[in-house]
Amino acid sequence: MKRRDFLKLAAAFSLAGCATTPSKARVVVIGGGFGGATAAKYIRMWDPSIDVVLVERESAFVSCPISNLVLAGYSNMQEISHGYDGLRRHGVQVVRDEASAIDPAKKSVRLARGGDISYERLIVSPGIDFNFGEVQGFDAAMQAGRVLHAWKAGAQTEALRRQLVEMRDGGVVVLSIPLAPYRCPPGPYERACMIAAYLKQAKPRSKLLVLDANPDVTSKGGLFKAAWKDLYAGVLEYRGNAKAVGVDATAMTVKLEVEDVKGDVLNVVPPHRAGNIAVQAGLVTHNNRWCDVDWRSMESKKVPGIHVLGDATLSAPAMPKSGSMANNHAKIAAAAIIGALGGRGAGPDPKIINTCYSFVSEKEGIRVSSVHEWDAGQGTLIGVKGAGGVSAARSESEGTYAWNWARTIWADSLA
Ligand SMILES: Cc1cc2nc3c(=O)[nH]c(=O)nc-3n(C[C@H](O)[C@H](O)[C@H](O)COP(=O)(O)OP(=O)(O)OC[C@H]3O[C@@H](n4cnc5c(N)ncnc54)[C@H](O)[C@@H]3O)c2cc1C
Repeated sequence: MKRRDFLKLAAAFSLAGCATTPSKARVVVIGGGFGGATAAKYIRMWDPSIDVVLVERESAFVSCPISNLVLAGYSNMQEISHGYDGLRRHGVQVVRDEASAIDPAKKSVRLARGGDISYERLIVSPGIDFNFGEVQGFDAAMQAGRVLHAWKAGAQTEALRRQLVEMRDGGVVVLSIPLAPYRCPPGPYERACMIAAYLKQAKPRSKLLVLDANPDVTSKGGLFKAAWKDLYAGVLEYRGNAKAVGVDATAMTVKLEVEDVKGDVLNVVPPHRAGNIAVQAGLVTHNNRWCDVDWRSMESKKVPGIHVLGDATLSAPAMPKSGSMANNHAKIAAAAIIGALGGRGAGPDPKIINTCYSFVSEKEGIRVSSVHEWDAGQGTLIGVKGAGGVSAARSESEGTYAWNWARTIWADSLA
């Protein structure tokens, strides 16, 4: 065993050892993305007497927001990658490992490399995993590196960028979008813009074909369609009601219900569900996919003492699966957990804001925002009528705000 691995294991075991009789309350957080990282930081900031242990399998956070710009060459992996030192400075103990099981009766989390960590409260923010089985042949094609989703920023983002760069001029890129709900409603249409912008500039004889399982563009439709018409006519073709049911990596086709569509680069995003650990831990409540929570605390409706955040949740009405929302979920959970551990009970009913920016060209952006507040009658968060809305038109100012939003949320979650 390498010294580095030994030290990590020793750290995990020492956490497990002192976990049986903790002197301080301990919160364990699984997943250091927008939800988990923010929750870990805010619990430590708001109540430094609580021990917070973050279990994250990756060495750094790679942001999905802005990752579409990497595909076009307008940003790079370094810019969207952020380490966990900021959380360590807040006193969060970061354990780089995979949480492989949760025992709610013993209140402990098993680590893949061995050892258990006990908790008083557990936060699960694992993001999404995919229902690969719904797109026949996808998993094998992805393992072979032939077909990518690039819907978790990281190695696949880089690989997709490479495929686009290596594609011949005159080639066809196929982008396939799953039925909603999926992570980031406007994300696929932003990706369409970024790929089209790259093709227009670097491979002008090429085309992008967008196959959407949904009947129409699911977010900022008018603004995206205007950008496609004004900026990418002849490059980008959009088809609604075009659900991918399979891929053939040898023929390089996406199989729709009625025909096969051929491409040189196939970017197929399969349907998603809550991340694997949420499924294994029995937190899923709906359609074998999502985890319902009490929106005043983010506590699971199925397993007491476990709070689920971010994309893994069964979204409240009109609430998108976004980094912005996951960051807000984290603050609701942090306040509720501090209240519960300190015996102070629940705080005020939550009211949270979502803003999602999208780039439609290198510099121009568009925005959608909404406000969600607790409604006691319906027992959930509902969209506040008349609040929020979309940009009047695409603009460079919105593009500047989009970059500012990204830098601010990275800092709020991780620094
Ligand atoms: C292309 C694209 C563009 C986007 N653009 C925007 C945008 O502009 N604005 C916006 O608000 N949102 C955007 N999003 C959506 C946003 O990225 C997600 O909604 C957000 O990441 C959800 O946060 P999360 O905490 O639920 O999951 P994540 O941020 O995915 O974090 C999950 C973390 O958990 C870790 N993990 C999972 N399981 C385990 C385990 N068992 N053990 C240890 N670690 C584990 C993972 O490694 C990961 O770090 C975009 C998404 C995509 C794909």
